[in-house]
Order: sequence, then structure tokens, then C-alpha cells
Amino acid sequence: MTVFAKKGDQVTCENGHPICIVAGALKKGFPITASDFKNWKIKIDLSSGAEIPFCPHCGGLFIGKPRENEGFKIFIDGQWRP
Ligand SMILES: [Zn+2]
Repeated sequence: MTVFAKKGDQVTCENGHPICIVAGALKKGFPITASDFKNWKIKIDLSSGAEIPFCPHCGGLFIGKPRENEGFKIFIDGQWRP
């Protein structure tokens, strides 16, 4: 299986504002949950059914589906992963 992010990787919005840190290896094809991240710099609602949060500074995305027919991606190190 493919690891696309590792512990300590910095998650930012698309404009580079720090959002949180990856808490453990993220593997492609596995669900992403709130416990996969730590050191949140923003206040977000992590409950199921909550809307996808945006960067509070610029409104940019840091988690989402850049392409409609793909799964969720996270913005890490200047690029969408996986
Ligand atoms: Zn931002």
C-alpha cells in the first residue's frame, strides 16, 4: 500500500497557511479521520456531517475533492495528496 503522507508532514491551505500536522502515516485508499492530524491551528468542526472547513485566513481549501470523481485529498507540502 502507498503511504502518501508521514508523521510530522505540514498540512497547509492552498495558499500556504499552516493548518495542522499529520499525526501518523496516511495510506492511499484508507479513510482519513480527525485523529490522523494534530496541532490544529484553526478551530474546526470534526463531527460527521460537518461541512468541509476552509482556511480562516484566506478561504482556501486544505481538504477536499479537487476533482469530482476522486476521493478526498489533503494539501501537503504544496500539493494535493494522494
Ligand atoms: Zn489560507
